[in-house]
Amino acid sequence: MKRFFAVFFGCLLFWGGTLWGQSNLWVPSSLQAGQAAAVLVWNGTLSPGFRVTIISERGKTLYSAHSFPLPPEMNSQVGVANLQAALLAVDAMTPSQHAFLKVSDARGTAYEFALPIQAGQFPREILHLNRAMSNLREKPSPVVHEQAVSIWDIYLAVHPQAIFQDQSWCLPVKGHPPISSPFGDTRTFIYTDGNEASTYHTGIDFAVVQGTPVWSCGAGKVLLSQNRKLTGETVVIEHWPGVYSDYFHLSKRLVEVGQIVQQNQLVGYSGATGLVTGPHLHWEVRVHGIPVNGENLVHRHLLDKSWILAKIGSADRKRG
Ligand SMILES: [Zn+2]
Repeated sequence: MKRFFAVFFGCLLFWGGTLWGQSNLWVPSSLQAGQAAAVLVWNGTLSPGFRVTIISERGKTLYSAHSFPLPPEMNSQVGVANLQAALLAVDAMTPSQHAFLKVSDARGTAYEFALPIQAGQFPREILHLNRAMSNLREKPSPVVHEQAVSIWDIYLAVHPQAIFQDQSWCLPVKGHPPISSPFGDTRTFIYTDGNEASTYHTGIDFAVVQGTPVWSCGAGKVLLSQNRKLTGETVVIEHWPGVYSDYFHLSKRLVEVGQIVQQNQLVGYSGATGLVTGPHLHWEVRVHGIPVNGENLVHRHLLDKSWILAKIGSADRKRG
C-alpha cells in the first residue's frame, strides 16, 4: 500500500511539474492537526489567488483556501517576485492519516503532494456546569444563535488586502501567566439535568486576575468589538486574510470595529464576562474558521520574514 502511494504521488508530482513549468514553491512535508502551516510560491507561473485544498485519505475535503500576495517590500527583502502565501490547517480532532495537498489555479491542478496529518495529543477534563450555564448551553436563546452566525460570518470572510503582520506574534498577556486550560483540551460538560456534551477547547485560557492588560498578538484590523452572551466582552482582529485572533471574557474593550491596531497595542482588560467559571483570558486563533494553537504561531514564526527568507534560500528543497 505504501509503495502504491509513493508511486501514485510520484507520478502526480512529475505530471504537475512537467505541465506547469518553473513555479518555485515550498510546502510543508506534514501537518499537525490543530496547527497552522504555510505554503510559499514565488517567481512562478501560478496565478495570484491560487487555491490550496487538503484532501483526506477517504477523499473528503478537509480544508480549502486561496493564496494571497505578500507585500512588495517583502518581495524585495527576500529578492524574489510574485511572492504568495497560502495557509493550511485541519481541525485539531482530525485523526492521523495519509492526506494530500492539491495546489490549483484557474487553469486546473498544478501540483499534488502527499501531506501526512499527525493527530494531536490533548488532555481531557470534565466540567460540571451550574443551572444558568447548563441553560445557556442546552437551550441557546435566539440571541446566542444570532451571535454565533455573525461571528462565523467574520471567521469565514477573507479580505485579500488584510496583510498587517510581518513579524512573529506575541502572547496577549505579559509575564508568562499560567495556562489554566490549554488548546485542544477535550471537555465533557455535565449539565444540571444529568445530560452530557463533549467538545474541545478552541483557544488557550490564561489564568489572569480581573483587569489584567490584554495586548494584540499582532498588527491587524478589528472586525468585532461587542458584548456577547457566551464569550462576554469580545474583540476579534484579522491579521492576515482569513486569519483571526479572538479575546474573550474581557472586563473592558478599548478598540472599535474598523480600527487598525499594532502588535502589542492594548485592546482591553481581562475579566469574567460571558459563560465562565472565573476570571481568565480566552485567546483563540482561527485560520479560515479552523481553530489552531496560537502558541505555535508565537514559536514557529508563521509568515515571519526570516522564516520566509530561510525557505526561499533552500529553493532547491521544495518541501520542508
Ligand atoms: Zn477558554
